[in-house]
Amino acid sequence: MRLRYQYRVYPTPGQRQRAARVFGCRRVIWNDALSRIKSVKSANKRLGPPKRRIVEGPYMRVPKNPDLSKSLITQAKKTEERHYLKDAPVGVLQQTLRDLDAAWKAHEDSKAGVRKGLEVRPPKFKGKKDNRQSACFTKSDRWSITKDRRLRLPKIGNVRVKWSRDLPSVPTSVTLIKDRSGRYWASFVVETDPANDMLPPVEGDQGIDLGLTRFAVLADGSHIASPKYLRRAEKKLKKRQRELSRKKKDSNNRDKARIKVARAHAAVADARRNFAHQWSHKLTSENQAVFTETLNVRGLARTRLAKSVHDAGWAQFVLFLEYKASRRGRTFTKVDRAFPSSQVCSACGHRDGPKLLNIRTWTCSEPACLTVHDRDWNAGRNILHEGRRILAAQTEPPTPGPGASSR
Ligand SMILES: [Zn+2]
Repeated sequence: MRLRYQYRVYPTPGQRQRAARVFGCRRVIWNDALSRIKSVKSANKRLGPPKRRIVEGPYMRVPKNPDLSKSLITQAKKTEERHYLKDAPVGVLQQTLRDLDAAWKAHEDSKAGVRKGLEVRPPKFKGKKDNRQSACFTKSDRWSITKDRRLRLPKIGNVRVKWSRDLPSVPTSVTLIKDRSGRYWASFVVETDPANDMLPPVEGDQGIDLGLTRFAVLADGSHIASPKYLRRAEKKLKKRQRELSRKKKDSNNRDKARIKVARAHAAVADARRNFAHQWSHKLTSENQAVFTETLNVRGLARTRLAKSVHDAGWAQFVLFLEYKASRRGRTFTKVDRAFPSSQVCSACGHRDGPKLLNIRTWTCSEPACLTVHDRDWNAGRNILHEGRRILAAQTEPPTPGPGASSR
């Protein structure tokens, strides 16, 4: 299994300058290749029927198209205007072509409906002011970890690394990243043996209802609140954004305020990621099976809830749950969104009808039941029941009989 291990790195001012040049070369190669793609695409549009089109589009399967790499990298280096490409390792530049190719493929697969998930936009030209910059060093670039535990990157130097945890094995590649708040990271790709992560099986399962007022409510009645450090980081971000909006355009102070906003953004993203890691780790440690509802973040984003949806970071949390469950030998199942988790009484199964979002508690209208429900807790329990039903249907052959369909 391939995993990423990321560490903070501290390049010297000189190394930062050289890194900026490598990032710059990467940007130039990306943009050069992209404009080639675009010109072929528009030429094809003009040419009309497929028979007459340029079949050998340079963007198609870039790694298998050595001519493109030759003309955009090897030959370009010999020209005066692209001479500076020698400041970047060749492998980094070739990897850029592969990245662009993957970006196109993702876009076209998404357009053709082959790829699941959110729509993928076509790749864009990279500007100088892009927030996040990165360069991937592959094996051919001969990067290494030195005896004094520094990261040796060709054309940049031996960079100091804060090894916050051990690498489990020898990494295959490393990406140098400069994030939008100006911090540097090294992200290693490591092959690991999946057997190492497997946990012994446990009893117990859990249904999770993702909510707005509380981050999540579990079927056992407990809930996950947004942690204080995350709320604090978010508050600070809002404050910084207000400060920025008061600064005059094109002033020095505005630039400073902008950097502060970027730092606060990064702090919120970090806090949110930590939080999602902690809880997905805990839930997959304690339960053999975890169920949650499928999210339609896009659908919600069109409504006024948009901001809270993005803030809550559900999508990230669900993603972490999913991959941790599969890595650790647990079951993770999404309950269909069409399943009316908030309308059904989890005690008697009576379908009580739709509930407005502001209704926090309700009483089952079935005369024999009359259970009072906390809206989210009830939904969590329904998700648990539905998840169990889906699992049972997957493992056992269907047996029509009493109790087989008690939805
Ligand atoms: Zn009931």
